[in-house]
Amino acid sequence: MIITDTHTHLYSEAFDADRSEMMQRTLEANISRLFIPAIDSTYTASMLQLEKDYPKNVFLMMGLHPTHVKDNYKEELAHVLEMLDTHTFYAVGEIGIDLYWDKSTLAIQQEAFRYQIKLAKQHQLPIVIHCREAFDEIFEILEEEKSDDLFGIFHCFTGSLEQAHRAISYNMKLGIGGVATFKNGKIDQFLNQIDLKHIVLETDSPYLAPKPFRGKRNESSYILKVLEKLSEIYNTSEEKIADITTENSKAVFGV
Ligand SMILES: [Zn+2]
Repeated sequence: MIITDTHTHLYSEAFDADRSEMMQRTLEANISRLFIPAIDSTYTASMLQLEKDYPKNVFLMMGLHPTHVKDNYKEELAHVLEMLDTHTFYAVGEIGIDLYWDKSTLAIQQEAFRYQIKLAKQHQLPIVIHCREAFDEIFEILEEEKSDDLFGIFHCFTGSLEQAHRAISYNMKLGIGGVATFKNGKIDQFLNQIDLKHIVLETDSPYLAPKPFRGKRNESSYILKVLEKLSEIYNTSEEKIADITTENSKAVFGV
């Protein structure tokens, strides 16, 4: 059984004190495919170091996170382009719109999202979407940009069944993580109506730890709790869920 964590910020400062122990726990649990979303240029060096330390297990993405779209966003987007042109990445992410933290930057978030979708198409890469309190705004742009060469993952999907179908209609898989284990997470109520071929697993470490670690630092090894929950929701074995979601991740990332 091979488990794929499609969204984990393992370069985060949160792991500086015990990264190698955390990685050992993760790899020993057969969580051996780790996809690493970018945030902004200040993290690029640590991401490249992580890839150097774990070349067989770590697959990097490049992108500007919506909550980091600030006054200097043009320089940041130039950095994204330069990195995409000079290094191998497996997705453009995480990108999207976040209206929870800051509504005042909506216009430049939209511009950065559109631009990075174009970069993904040019580089024949998937996108990894971050959406917080912004389903309408995200869907509006996906509607404009939809095409055969636009595909990817709706990371940390927390919407309704209808929004799930709509995301899938844009060639997106749904990234399912700790929220599925929360009592008030809601998606566990209808997830079994979504075919497993549309699902990938993620942790979003160090954020969004699953039950019983909710509120604590998250790490990729806790994906086992998500797997356990999905096995319950879909009434099928953990092996089968791990196999299908790993195959789905290969279809998205091409590796
Ligand atoms: Zn993230």
